[in-house]
Amino acid sequence: MKKLICLCLASLLCLAGCSGSPKSPTSGGNSLFKAGTYTGTGKGNNDSITVEVTFTDTEIASITIKEHQETAGISDPAIEKIPQSVMSSQSLAVDTVAGATKSSKGILEAIEDCVVQAGGDAEQLKTAANQTAKTKTEESRDTDVIVVGSGITGMSAALSAKEAGADVVVIEKQAVTGGTTAIAGGYLISIDSKLYDDTDFDDSLDTFRKYWDERMSYSGQQSGYPDETRWEEIVSKTGETVDWLQEKGVTWEAFTGFGPYPTAHNPLGGRGLIDEMVKIAENQGIEVITECKGEKLVIDDQGAVVGVVAETADKVITFNASSVVLATGGISANGEMVKQYSPKVAQAQTISVAAAGSTGDGMTMALEAGAVPFENFFTSICATTVDPRLASQVEEAAKLTTNKQLGVNAKGERFASESAVYYDALGSDMIQDGNAPFYYIYDSSDADTAAILEKGAAAGAVVKADTIEALAEGMKVDAAALKASFDRYNQQAEAGKDEDFGKSPENLVVLDQAPYYAVIFYPTTFGSQGGVLTSETGQVLNQTGEAIPGLFAAGEMSNRYFYNENYVLAASLGLYATTGRIAGAAAAAK
Ligand SMILES: Cc1cc2nc3c(=O)[nH]c(=O)nc-3n(C[C@H](O)[C@H](O)[C@H](O)COP(=O)(O)OP(=O)(O)OC[C@H]3O[C@@H](n4cnc5c(N)ncnc54)[C@H](O)[C@@H]3O)c2cc1C
Repeated sequence: MKKLICLCLASLLCLAGCSGSPKSPTSGGNSLFKAGTYTGTGKGNNDSITVEVTFTDTEIASITIKEHQETAGISDPAIEKIPQSVMSSQSLAVDTVAGATKSSKGILEAIEDCVVQAGGDAEQLKTAANQTAKTKTEESRDTDVIVVGSGITGMSAALSAKEAGADVVVIEKQAVTGGTTAIAGGYLISIDSKLYDDTDFDDSLDTFRKYWDERMSYSGQQSGYPDETRWEEIVSKTGETVDWLQEKGVTWEAFTGFGPYPTAHNPLGGRGLIDEMVKIAENQGIEVITECKGEKLVIDDQGAVVGVVAETADKVITFNASSVVLATGGISANGEMVKQYSPKVAQAQTISVAAAGSTGDGMTMALEAGAVPFENFFTSICATTVDPRLASQVEEAAKLTTNKQLGVNAKGERFASESAVYYDALGSDMIQDGNAPFYYIYDSSDADTAAILEKGAAAGAVVKADTIEALAEGMKVDAAALKASFDRYNQQAEAGKDEDFGKSPENLVVLDQAPYYAVIFYPTTFGSQGGVLTSETGQVLNQTGEAIPGLFAAGEMSNRYFYNENYVLAASLGLYATTGRIAGAAAAAK
């Protein structure tokens, strides 16, 4: 359902006018706009954004966001701040909001649309504010522990350091707290927590270990991980962490929907969890500063880390601290780092759904201080993403993963069971050479699926043909290879047994009703498993295996220890909260 928003800023204009806030820098009393109210649109992150802008002859008088489908909790700061910034600067050259860049740009595009309709000089307005270069003020602050990043790791570290008696500040580069944690389902592995005390559910480490080992056995190769000692040390404390957070005021419910292992779940998911943690932290006197990006570590002449230099829109702040905890998440949103540390994943053109802030900043800072990266990152493939060209034109495109289709790589060859669990066999098969992006092939037997595919074909984002050979031509794959894969798949479907990849019989359906369709899919990553080497208490280690004084890292910044080459559903938050809790206490004790 479309969201109707009415954010009227006329009153702000009145305030601006009364207090002498900036007018358009180029007006000089001449007419700049055709006075009136105009409606314009721009492309946001999810869909178009519609705004209504009222102009006087010389000014932008009010901006109202009329309609949008942006994601609540992520786009809110852009919805609030961009119109305010345009109004107060009377300019389109305003900063986008960190973490909501696409929404910001969509709003600006819609306002620009109105400016053009009103006969204004949009190009001039886009440069006006830049005419006066901004100089940032410098500031220095002292604290005991500075935590960089406000996901579950950072917030756990902050609460734990505070509990140990430290003064703590958390800085977060985005406008909204929580990073990937805030968009997660919010399920935490929870071994031996009080949450399961009154149930028959077996939440013991031994049972969980059997399950974990079985999942890891699907790994395509042996990586030398998990580190069994570290794994046991952290996993066995996950229940303790859940109880600890509950005592501080976090809301949990026991969730057993993942089958054999116990999880704690916040009823409002990752967003609800982070909101509660931030509130608890602030009530305890921990300052959580958003739109404040950690840029580099302060290192003294002994090589000890003694603070962080961070930047906000108008300040450069040096936080002097006894310890720094880096909790900046993974590298998934940084294409260059993915290429460097996970080349196969980059080659497979994976699409990351981790938060936009997962750009490996903490890792970059730690490496400058002498930290050591893991050599062989593993990147979990937890789903597939339908061709974005199709998704942007056909709303129902996400429904095309039916498990009943045939999947082939760019050579026209089948490479895995299409109904395998992504993060088991299918995930690692997808990122083997040449298997992704890949095509799913459908026939017309299911009317609902065919209707979606027809829309896609009409939009030019689905290949459609009456024969498999013609389909191959449209897909630009080898026709003989595709026909051979198709025929073999159908033979096995008729026989009711997939000898090649063991696809489950209920999904093994003969494809024989023309027309046929082909759609491109990409592997989807939820995060990275790598980071920098750390001790059991989260101290960042240097080349000689010694702790770099004052520097700690936890969560997705140092998580290679836990996995072989496979992921386990909901396997992160419980581990990262625990590593954050341990690192926070150690940082405070320094
Ligand atoms: C869709 C989805 C669903 C998931 N569901 C689950 C689930 O239910 N259970 C589970 O266990 N796992 C789940 N995961 C995985 C899990 O959410 C992440 O692995 C985990 O949240 C990472 O936590 P973190 O604290 O290490 O990093 P994050 O939560 O990403 O936090 C890092 C924070 O640091 C900030 N930051 C980065 N650089 C800087 C800088 N220079 N200065 C200041 N701040 C900075 C970021 O903006 C971010 O807010 C899911 C992942 C996805 C994508």
